[in-house]
Amino acid sequence: MAGRMRSRLLPGAPRWLLGLLVLVAVPFSLFGAVRVLRPALVAGTSLVTDLPLVLAMHVLLLAVLAWRARRVTTERAVWNRLALGAGVYAAGMLAAGVLALVPGTGDAALVPALWAGVAVFPFWYGGIVRWNRYGTSLADPNDVLNGSAAVLAVVAVLDVFVVPAVPSLSLLPWWELQALVGQFAVCFVLVGTALTLPFLGAMGRDPRTWLVVAALTADMCAAAAALATGGRGAGWVAVSHPLLVVCFAVAATLRSRRAAPQPTDPAAATIGAYVVIVAATATLLTGALIGAGTGAVWCAGLAAVAAGTRLAVNVREIAALAVTRREALTDELTGLANRRALLRRVEELSAEGTPVALALLDVDKFKEVNDALGHAAGDDLLRLVARRLEPALRAGDVLGRLGGDEFAVVAALEPNAPAADVALALGARLHERLAEPFPVEGMFVHASASIGVASTDDDVVRPTHLLRRADVAMYDAKRSGGGVALYDSRRHADSSGHLALVEELRRALTDGQLVLHHQPQLDVATGHVSGVEALVRWAHPERGLLHPGDFLPLAEVHGLMGALTETVLAQAVAQAAEWQSQGLDLRMSVNLSASNLLDVGLPGRVAQLLDAHGLAPAALVLEVTESVLITDPDRSLAVVGALAQLGATVSIDDFGTGYSSLAYLRDLPVAELKLDRSFTADLLTDRRTEAIVASTIELAHRLGLRVVAEGVEDEPTLRHLRTLDCDVSQGYLHARPLPAGDLVAWLADQGAPRTAVTR
Ligand code: C2E
Ligand code: MG
Ligand code: MG
Repeated sequence: MAGRMRSRLLPGAPRWLLGLLVLVAVPFSLFGAVRVLRPALVAGTSLVTDLPLVLAMHVLLLAVLAWRARRVTTERAVWNRLALGAGVYAAGMLAAGVLALVPGTGDAALVPALWAGVAVFPFWYGGIVRWNRYGTSLADPNDVLNGSAAVLAVVAVLDVFVVPAVPSLSLLPWWELQALVGQFAVCFVLVGTALTLPFLGAMGRDPRTWLVVAALTADMCAAAAALATGGRGAGWVAVSHPLLVVCFAVAATLRSRRAAPQPTDPAAATIGAYVVIVAATATLLTGALIGAGTGAVWCAGLAAVAAGTRLAVNVREIAALAVTRREALTDELTGLANRRALLRRVEELSAEGTPVALALLDVDKFKEVNDALGHAAGDDLLRLVARRLEPALRAGDVLGRLGGDEFAVVAALEPNAPAADVALALGARLHERLAEPFPVEGMFVHASASIGVASTDDDVVRPTHLLRRADVAMYDAKRSGGGVALYDSRRHADSSGHLALVEELRRALTDGQLVLHHQPQLDVATGHVSGVEALVRWAHPERGLLHPGDFLPLAEVHGLMGALTETVLAQAVAQAAEWQSQGLDLRMSVNLSASNLLDVGLPGRVAQLLDAHGLAPAALVLEVTESVLITDPDRSLAVVGALAQLGATVSIDDFGTGYSSLAYLRDLPVAELKLDRSFTADLLTDRRTEAIVASTIELAHRLGLRVVAEGVEDEPTLRHLRTLDCDVSQGYLHARPLPAGDLVAWLADQGAPRTAVTR
């Protein structure tokens, strides 16, 4: 038992001090009780003679509270204030003790001690209110107004209704009477406030709150006794003070038992202010009727003013709260509903049992607009899209922006309507609205969208599930080149994991799950292996080795392409440097994506990487596809130019599949051209293809470019390429993409470099 008790105390708690306090305070308060109840038994002692002992107890309490304030960090503001209050009490006692030494002052010496009981209010009240906040996270900047108004109202009520009822009180000098009234009012308000700790602040299981309530209740009872007996019961202070000191001191040494934060009803402060106003007004009226003293009238008036001010502040706060609430549900950029508001709407409708359709809309190529024309233009476009979509809504539909370039519409469906059809029709209406180009920065920008729709019709799903389904469908729409796609649980069951896959990809990027396979490139004329193309693979812990087609589109859509290229480049450059140090002189080709070419910082980072590994820039080939050059020609041309400037070779990948004009070949600092696999495949069977390949090789050579044929799968094709003077061959004929170790083994297997290609 003793062990359990001890463990509840804070480590290092001043136990000897506590023990001392209990030892002194308990007999003293018993003695005090006997003295009040049977004055004859202990004649000759009075409050004045008790002062040194009471003072000593308050000083000890001050020490304990100050120790607690220093000891903890989270509740420091609470304990600091409680300690300050104890300091005020001690100072009052000290002053009374000093005055008592002056001959002839008599009981008047008690004035500072009595008023200290009033002066303690702001500190203890502030401490308790703050304590409440730790438990409730409620912040009320107007504590002083609240508390003071309440104390003034209680004083006024007592002055008007109670004081006249106890005749002996009128015999007391005003300063003593008002101190007694004030003390009771203070204790009353403090007890009330302390009681909010266990009830509003959900700290009922924390024994410290009950100790504080007990301490203040003891004080309040003593003050009540003093009032009820016309001041003669003031001796009860000798009982209540030791109890107060002990309870506070024990509370200060106990560990905190924080309850889970619980929001308090914000109406509480308003109700409190109303109560004060009603009490003060009633007191004023009664006071006017019975001719109450000016002090009471002033107190009641001040209480009403303070509570009124508090109410006004409350109204302002509530208005501000309404703004915050609105802001919390509104998307700042477009003024539409935000993600939270949309999900809430789905929740509301689902709770009513109304079937819901959700359309999720992703603006295609938004990133390109944003990157090419700047964020302000991107923002303009989003606002225009928002305005454009609004007319597509029906009554009750909610349009919102989920973030970035994603918009969503939540629509309530008729109970018996064909949900899928209605959802698709909604998607189609939205899609149609974006068909016309948008005027942005003096240009006309086409911003079509990929739209996924899902409904809660056939099975009940949670709002986040519905959103995920619409997202899966949207992604499907995007993959198939825009338009509208409906979530279909049979078809999309697998792809519903794609969001999880994005998260996994994010992790894979940092966990080193992305690895490179290398596909050799052979010099057509000599059969020498002149280089390799690094092709990324994801060594997924559960799904096995994933190919670029399985995750690159995800990386592009979810903005992970930059990080992916960074990893690939780092591995490829390190690998090339390692091979070089082993005497293997292989060019290393790395694929860049559209978003990489908009990143003006890329050339700098490539330079750093080459430098760090001591690899000559000429050993690095950077493959870009034609299509990426059309997205934002100026910016991508600048990036490509800077890469070429470094000394790296820029290669046009999948040449012939895009729609770019040959003019690019003139303007771009390109040194290599990779003929798309489709040309290689048809080379022997289609005369027109053969003509295109032959003239492309000839043109490329005239421009000083090296030509690489991709997808070479058989010997006759290779032979034909040789007759057309193609420079480099890459394809399954030679080898599939291989891990670095296997590639080295493959190279060794080749033995004499010419064995792979024979004339
Ligand atoms: P690509 O750059 O055109 O790469 C050639 C693709 O053709 C590779 O597919 C390769 O395995 C395949 N291939 C090679 N020889 C033959 C052949 O003889 N027959 C056939 N049918 N296919 C052959 P893979 O590795 O699946 O890569 C697909 C595409 O993914 C690549 O096309 C490239 O555009 C992209 N990619 C791969 N790695 C990366 C990377 O690290 N970054 C970026 N941005 N894209 C990459
Ligand atoms: Mg490539
Ligand atoms: Mg290619």
